[in-house]
Amino acid sequence: MDWMTRRKFLTAGGLGLGAALLVPGVLLAGESAFDLALEGQDLLAAKEYARAIEVLHKAVSLDVGNEWAWGLLGRAAYQSGDMRGALTSFRKVLGLNPDDVYSRMMVDVIQQKPLPPREKHETPLTPLEQAAKKEEELFHARISEEKGMGYQVRRLVLDPGHGGFDSGAVGLGKLQEKDVTLDLAKRTAGILERQKAPFELFMTRTDDYYIPLSARTTTANQYNADLFVSFHINANANRQPNGLDTYFCSEKASSKEALRVAEFENSVIKFDKKELVQKGYVNIEDMLFRYERRRYWEAGGKIAGIVQKNMAARVSMKNRGVHSANFYVLRRAKMPSILLETGFISNPEQEALLTQDAYRENLAVSIAASLSQLAGGGV
Ligand SMILES: [Zn+2]
Repeated sequence: MDWMTRRKFLTAGGLGLGAALLVPGVLLAGESAFDLALEGQDLLAAKEYARAIEVLHKAVSLDVGNEWAWGLLGRAAYQSGDMRGALTSFRKVLGLNPDDVYSRMMVDVIQQKPLPPREKHETPLTPLEQAAKKEEELFHARISEEKGMGYQVRRLVLDPGHGGFDSGAVGLGKLQEKDVTLDLAKRTAGILERQKAPFELFMTRTDDYYIPLSARTTTANQYNADLFVSFHINANANRQPNGLDTYFCSEKASSKEALRVAEFENSVIKFDKKELVQKGYVNIEDMLFRYERRRYWEAGGKIAGIVQKNMAARVSMKNRGVHSANFYVLRRAKMPSILLETGFISNPEQEALLTQDAYRENLAVSIAASLSQLAGGGV
């Protein structure tokens, strides 16, 4: 549909009329703020940013309360590299509609890089811009207050790593990672259930079958979980390394070792390549998600610290600490997520420990204790 057809369609639908009524003087002149915004939107889609900016400036000068036109102007300015102009426009939108998540995100994204110096002839902030800026400060103050109140887990997903044909790492004594992770997750769930922990619990698998990495996260997202815990056992070509690690998700690995572990855990992805290609994935949704997940990853880091500390205090394995890396199973989770590497199956002594019921139970007790703490808002 070209823009003329759409314009007729929208006018017929009453939208155009409504906008025209808001600016009666403009209707006589032949072009309303609404029409101009529509034209600007088409120019923006055609990547004609300079012309879009010109037309949208006219639109907002005719109707200063038109948040749609301000939003389009912000996008056009952003695309043309005018960060200060984009910031002003998105702030206007937030002044008019504090719930506009897209503009909120854009203000945040733009402010992460230093702005070019203000030009001399530029006017100081208008009352509307000042109000928008004030509102933005209040929003950030509220967010940091929420952080201080603690993160409370109400819905928990336990994810036993590997399964089915994907055995995970295998020890010299033939102990398979997939069996230990399933048993550990089941024990943890059992302890939490017996303790009547105040949250709902879900497991991504309860038996020996294969689940693609992406399906594990999708399940957790659909379940609307507050925390995703993936169970794994570490391995190394060298038999010496031993100990416990807890990981959270980050774009870049925190060390070479973290990168190696993530590469191993991600390697199963070759079996579900089809799911990697996300056709029709809307870019804006992706941007919003990238924005939100910074907070999930930050919370994941804090939670990882608690779990690691409790595990290391209870079981006799070296504390290798908390690290971060880009784990496929964590990166698409719409909630904080952590990945446990509870010992090295490649180290014969640790493989022996990991076969013991008492040892597994001890580990599960320490993990359950951390999770119970989180149910009480312990972060
Ligand atoms: Zn694993």
